[in-house]
Amino acid sequence: MLPTMFISHGSPMTALRDSPARRFFTTLGTRLGRPKAVLIVSAHWETVEPAVNAVAVNETIHDFGGFPQALYDMRYPAPGAPALAERVAELLADAGLPCGIDRQRGLDHGAWIPAALIWPAADVPIVQLSIQPHLGPAHHMQLGRALAKLREENVLIVGSGSFTHNLRILNRASLDAPETPSVTAFATWFDQALAANRTAELLAYRTRAPAAVEQHPTDEHLLPIYVAMGAAGEGAKAHRLHSSVEFAALRMDAYEFAA
Ligand code: ZN
Repeated sequence: MLPTMFISHGSPMTALRDSPARRFFTTLGTRLGRPKAVLIVSAHWETVEPAVNAVAVNETIHDFGGFPQALYDMRYPAPGAPALAERVAELLADAGLPCGIDRQRGLDHGAWIPAALIWPAADVPIVQLSIQPHLGPAHHMQLGRALAKLREENVLIVGSGSFTHNLRILNRASLDAPETPSVTAFATWFDQALAANRTAELLAYRTRAPAAVEQHPTDEHLLPIYVAMGAAGEGAKAHRLHSSVEFAALRMDAYEFAA
């Protein structure tokens, strides 16, 4: 039975320049091995209703602006898994969560940049599932719950977002700048709530966690963690695999959820 994962994908520059988070991604493939397929829920694909992509080969979507040409030249042509996409849509529909199938869309940078570091050969099939920011944490936990069975089928479920994500408070001059106190306060609360399995508080994090709205002015980058939590099953434990901060305020934490 596979665990589920939450990763913080960080700046697109993670693909190009060294950082603790990048080093973490490059070793993660050894820990995870080679699943039959990966289902990634990235913060960068938002839809009104859930949607899953079903393609033969994933297109590399360069959904960012103002970066070096080398990033736009990168391609990560991981195979898709149309049969898995159908299965995802079916499991969600069975749980009362109708899901569309997108037969064109490839992988956005929240999916392909970490995947390219974790499985550089681009030989593990990848399917992407969208998020619905207007529906909040509880909906995303339900999405995960509905997909929990896939762990028995050697499908790795990965939520890709950011543990904190207020781009206005970043110290863009310094990748290694010391962490802003409100970032520490939020991340510590969230980490402790995960460790103690305080699900109700995690779902209500916006009113419970210190500096929650400051750290996630909009919460699309946090929602993928709820899918990972839900998919791991009732009573699963959170295990932090990585923690670092970039530009004083962008936490790059990663978690594994397993029973
Ligand atoms: Zn992002």
